[in-house]
Order: sequence, then C-alpha cells, then structure tokens
Amino acid sequence: MGGDVEGLGFADLHLHQHAHLAFGGRVIAGAPSGELADALASCRAAHGPHGILDLLGNIGRVVLLGAGWRALLGHRTTGYPAFDDWLRWDDLTHQGAHEDMLRRAVDGGLRLVVMHALHNELVYRLTPGARGPGNDMAVVDLQLAAAHEMEASIDARSGGHGRGWYRIVRTPEEAREVIASGRLAVVLGIEVDTLFATPGVEPTPASVRAAVAKYHDAGVRHVMPCHLRDNAFGGAAFALLLHWSRSAGIFSTVNPLGSLPVYRMRTEPGQTDTYRYRGGHRNPRGLTDLGGVLVDELMAHGFLIDVDHMSAATRADVLDRTGARHYPVVAGHAELLTTSRPELRSERQLTDAEVARIEAAGGVVALLLRQSVQAGPATSRGTSDTFAEAYRHLLRTAPGAAGGFGSDLNGFAGSPGARAGASVQYPFPSPVGTASMPRATLGTRTFDIADHGVAHAGMLPDFVAELRVAGLSEHELAPLLRSATRYVEMWERAMTAR
Ligand SMILES: [Zn+2]
Ligand SMILES: [Zn+2]
Repeated sequence: MGGDVEGLGFADLHLHQHAHLAFGGRVIAGAPSGELADALASCRAAHGPHGILDLLGNIGRVVLLGAGWRALLGHRTTGYPAFDDWLRWDDLTHQGAHEDMLRRAVDGGLRLVVMHALHNELVYRLTPGARGPGNDMAVVDLQLAAAHEMEASIDARSGGHGRGWYRIVRTPEEAREVIASGRLAVVLGIEVDTLFATPGVEPTPASVRAAVAKYHDAGVRHVMPCHLRDNAFGGAAFALLLHWSRSAGIFSTVNPLGSLPVYRMRTEPGQTDTYRYRGGHRNPRGLTDLGGVLVDELMAHGFLIDVDHMSAATRADVLDRTGARHYPVVAGHAELLTTSRPELRSERQLTDAEVARIEAAGGVVALLLRQSVQAGPATSRGTSDTFAEAYRHLLRTAPGAAGGFGSDLNGFAGSPGARAGASVQYPFPSPVGTASMPRATLGTRTFDIADHGVAHAGMLPDFVAELRVAGLSEHELAPLLRSATRYVEMWERAMTAR
C-alpha cells in the first residue's frame, strides 16, 4: 500500500453499492462483493427471460437516458464473463460498483465514498416478485449490515481484521489515516423517503432522538433528511415527472402531459423567475418542528447533513439552523441552477446564493457525475464536457466548496456517456499516485471510456483523466483531486461546531 502525497485522492459522495438489496431484490441485479462469476452472473433470476421483467430499467433507459425504443424489449441477460448487454453507461439496473470495479478505482486515486443505503417503498410495491422487507428502515438495515460484511470479507482475504482496503470509517481521524495509507474510506449514509420512521407509528421528538442515536451506533455518519416525497421533516424538491402539484389543475403547465400523480405536494409559483420548470413552481413546505429536532440532533452527533432533494424552503431553513452554529452541510450529488438549461431550472438545483452559503460554513458541493440538465450542445449532454462546465461554474462561484462528485451508481441517474472528440489514451497515468492505468477489464470484456463512457465504478479514474482532455487545467482539477481530504476537513469542522 503506497502512501500518497499531501492527502491526495478523490471522493465519490453518492454511491449506492448495496442497492441490489433494495426494492425486494428484483430491480438492481448483481451483488457488490464475492467472486465476479457469482456476483455478476446472469440477471435472469431478477429480470426474467431476456430481461423483459426489468420494467424500471427498460423503460428508464428509454425515458431518462434516451436509449432507442428497442430497450423496451429487454436485454441479453448474460453477465459474466461476456457482459453482452450490460455494464454500460446508459444502464440503471445492473450492479455498477462490484468490489473488483471499486478496487480499480482505488488504484486510480479514489480514496473516499459515501455508501448510501437506498430504498423506495413505492418501487418495492410495484416490483413483481419483490421479496423480503419493504419498509425503508428495514431495507436500510440490510444494506448497512451488507457493507459491514463486505468489509469483513475483504479483511479476511487481506490477512485479517483491519487489513483490507475497504474501511468503514466512524471518525474524521480514521478517515484521514485510511486516505493517507492509500486505501478507501467508506462513510455510511442513508437516502430514503421516510428516514428514521417506523411503519404505522407517528414520529415524535423522542423517537427521532432515539433513531439518530441508534444509527450513529450503527456507524452511519451522513444522511439525507428528504428524498422524493414530503416527509415528517420537510418538503421535497418539486423536480421530477413523478411530482404532482395539488395546487394546479390536470394538464396545466404545472402538471403537463407526461407528469404523474405519484408524489403529490402543494406548490406555488416562485417569487422571482429563478425557477422555470413546470411554470416555475416550487414546494413551499419548509423544515417542520420535528425536522428542527432532527437537524439539532444530527448536529449534536456530528452527522454530515445532505441538502440535496430538499425543497428550496426546507434547504433555506436547514442552512439557517446549521449556519447559526457555523455547522457545515453537504450537497453530495448536486446540480447547479445558473448553468442549467432554462426550462429545466428547478429547486432540485442549487442557486449561486445557496452554493455561497454552503461555502461560507465550510461545507462541500460535489456535482452529480452525469450532468444531464447542464446547458450545452445535445451531443455533450451528460458527458465529461458538461461536468467540466458545471465544475468550472462552481469554481467561479464558490471555489472553497468544490469537492469531488457523486456518481449515484445503482441509483437511477445513469452515468456519463462517451465524449464526442478526443478522449483518454491508454495506458494513462493514474490521476493520483504513480500507477499506469491500462483499459479496465472484467471477465472477457475490455472497457475504453472513449467507446463505453463510465460503464461502471472502475472507470471513475478514466473519467477524471478525461476531464483533462475536456480542458480542465491542473489548477482547476486540484480541488477535485484532493476532494477526499476536503470531505474530512468538513467533517472535522462539524465535530468542532457540534
Ligand atoms: Zn438484466
Ligand atoms: Zn439522490
């Protein structure tokens, strides 16, 4: 294990490595650990013959990622060793962060990930053959246990307890030590709609305090108070076609054709023309009293609080409450409003003023890897070019907040596709350290970012290298290349301010 200079190493602040355990085990196919031949065997058991039961994946590829209509007909289920139809950037439902992939990313400079346990009760209910528990926190528990098992299994193959490269960290000091030794610091996080809820039980300040303590004991250090729907703590961003305004009529500009009444919320037009998405509406629901209890309790324990997916009103309340204590917050898979396509500007994105507030308190903004709302020619949409543009805007607005990226692998965001024009020449020098990186291989497949985009987590170093080709200077890349340490600095600040 080679030590790195000056705490170098990049961070992925939004990775759903164990999402194969979410949604009744039938949506994300493939396990993140164990022999590749077993972990990524055929997806037929989960997705049916020719992947025809993978409704979310097949429809999602067409609707969200612009794949041709043929994707609706399913896919070849062959996994290892040929990986005929999957392990590709425009895929949503096959494991993209197996340990062999992650290990290559570590060789190329990845030093910290936030592993978010993920679930969605609605997707669970709609998934044919869903097995196991269906409520958010029960599924979170499965994924947290799986992360600990994975750590133990890698330890066992690396000479014993504490010897492996996959280290779940509970303090900033532990994280610094892991980063300095060239290994991967894994911060456990949670992203669900009903954080800390017990089905059928009305949450109280006492139950919230107990849950924060319980999950702190379980090793969780980073949480998202809100996800896709309004919950006991606050409002969700009005930002997806699954969001439905209770304040507007059917087939209005606010509820256009194609939007669905899945997550209902009250909305109102913004005071300014900041937002344009669907009549510029936003969700006025802010942080509730119980949400205030949650934020105070999270601060008392030194949790990293993630403000993504919140309504602008809730985010403002959280920034007020944390800001009063000089306590930093994080946006782990952010999009930026100013540089987005005007018609898509919604409260899911951060305004320049919000980014500046996050910077002022010592927080971090990590950009979503696939920047699909970012303005730019259609050919560059969601590639390293649009990431580079958004990242440049972040450096201009709040350089102190710039910190890595959130891949959202296994989280239905898709990954960057191939860049038009020049790309990485193999072998390329690792963005961090001294390794020379040949093309990634898994089974009998070889991956080249110029042809395949970011097909899995192993290609994160290729993406960072491609950002140089896309025009980012060494000076511009510097904050990204030390973003693992930047996250730890934020964490230390949180521990001091709590
Ligand atoms: Zn499949
Ligand atoms: Zn998310």
